[in-house]
Amino acid sequence: MNRQGRPTQPIEALAIAPDTFTGNRALRIEEALIFEIGRPEVTGVDLDEPAAFTARLGGLERRDIGLPGLSEPEAVRHYVRLSRMNYGIDSGVFPLGSCTMKHNPRLNEKMARLPGFGDVHPLQPQSTVPGALALMAELSRWLCELTGMPAVALSPKAGAHGELCGMMAIKAALAARGEKRSVVLVPESAHGTNPATAALLGYRVESIPARPDGTVDPAEVKKHLSNDVAAIMLTNPNTCGLFERDVVAIADAVHAAGAYFYADGANFNAIVGKVRPGDLGVDAMHINLHKTFSTPHGGGGPGAGPVTLSAALSDFAPLPYVVTDADSVRLVEHAQDGDGKPFGRMCAFHGQAGMFVRAMSYMLAHGSDGMRQASEDAVLNANYVKAGLRDLMSLPFGDGPCMHEVLFDDRWLEGTGVSTLDFAKAMIDEGYHPMTMYFPLVVHGAMLIEPTESESKASLDLFVAALRALTMAAKRGDIARFSGAPYYAPRRRLDETRAARAPVLRWSKPAGQEAAE
Ligand SMILES: *Cc1c(COP(=O)(O)O)cnc(C)c1O
Repeated sequence: MNRQGRPTQPIEALAIAPDTFTGNRALRIEEALIFEIGRPEVTGVDLDEPAAFTARLGGLERRDIGLPGLSEPEAVRHYVRLSRMNYGIDSGVFPLGSCTMKHNPRLNEKMARLPGFGDVHPLQPQSTVPGALALMAELSRWLCELTGMPAVALSPKAGAHGELCGMMAIKAALAARGEKRSVVLVPESAHGTNPATAALLGYRVESIPARPDGTVDPAEVKKHLSNDVAAIMLTNPNTCGLFERDVVAIADAVHAAGAYFYADGANFNAIVGKVRPGDLGVDAMHINLHKTFSTPHGGGGPGAGPVTLSAALSDFAPLPYVVTDADSVRLVEHAQDGDGKPFGRMCAFHGQAGMFVRAMSYMLAHGSDGMRQASEDAVLNANYVKAGLRDLMSLPFGDGPCMHEVLFDDRWLEGTGVSTLDFAKAMIDEGYHPMTMYFPLVVHGAMLIEPTESESKASLDLFVAALRALTMAAKRGDIARFSGAPYYAPRRRLDETRAARAPVLRWSKPAGQEAAE
């Protein structure tokens, strides 16, 4: 029976379920590596033999590079089958905390494919792309309006890249003041990219401990402030899903010490339309367009991490940037063409232009009221999940309301023989991508759930019911359900540490096969 009481699978069929000859299970098809099914002599395209020519590469041209070839239908099937083993926001609830996996409206895709946006080339003369420039100016205007900050650098290509950009602007501003400070303060609940960014720029990172309620204490920040502190990097709402209530006091103390306030804006989706970070004293903040303003992401890209800047930093924004004159928009590509003191540039060209179109489309479709509602619904949904699970799972920071994500710890698993990892793996068998595990590090065995605003009540109810069923299975000692999970995924439990530490990136024929051929 399925959940609506409709019969789906006769019991008899289960008893006789055969091993299949192919190893496939109906639509779940085993797929070999392309190197195992392809042949160098096969090709899916039909090109003319090149006319006789003399290579001018001094004998250095590559000959047999051994790339496997497939016919066109074989190539299509290979990648379609692989894609079906994947899990994405379009296949089900994707409750990763901090990463914000929300629905990406198809309208955005349609807009990004308009030829005037999709087919332009970054080396085209400015006079031929006024629409693309106008869109960058309009997006900048919206981002400044939403953050209450006067300037924005659009070019960074991800959140982490935006952090680097904002911190480079801070470094440039300090240098312009003739100062060279060496310390950056980072709360211990921060995303790993924060200390990494500071360290990459040569700063020494000092960690600020959290209060028992999971937030940062301004008194603790003050203890660490000195005239050697360049900046604090603070996430708000923080990665425990809590709003930093003392953020203004923290900003004031940081400014009084002559330092800057970098805000990690990855969680901006919880407060868009409710709070303007500029009003909280923020000097620089990256916005993950791919999290807050709905563009597809995952697997490392593509993202876009524009950085909004306060008046104190706006002069130092990197090249290129758009300037809106009386009747036109122009792109300043060289320092001498503008009024600013750019610290340099973050990348070739202007950043991820396709993401700008998608974000703009999302903003225009929602309007200011719609964006505010998305923030409110994201917070409501996280609190709904919290209310549905708090009697079974343990909350590290008490029972108060959370923002857009709810954080559980692993105290409730104590003595069950089930770990956070086991629990997450069992969620895969239930058809869910696991939540964020073991992050933030301030909480033991953390499980961070962010449902986002895009889930319906029905979908949240099923998600909560599935998690309740799993928690009860763990508590009654049904260990096998967890220890071997996932049972139903195309691949079982993998050695993820080894895969990350010692990745095998080159295919070679298994030993012995060479001789057999
Ligand atoms: C996602 C995230 C980042 C990094 O953003 P990327 O776009 O993945 O580089 C930084 N901080 C926090 C809190 C995040 O959630």
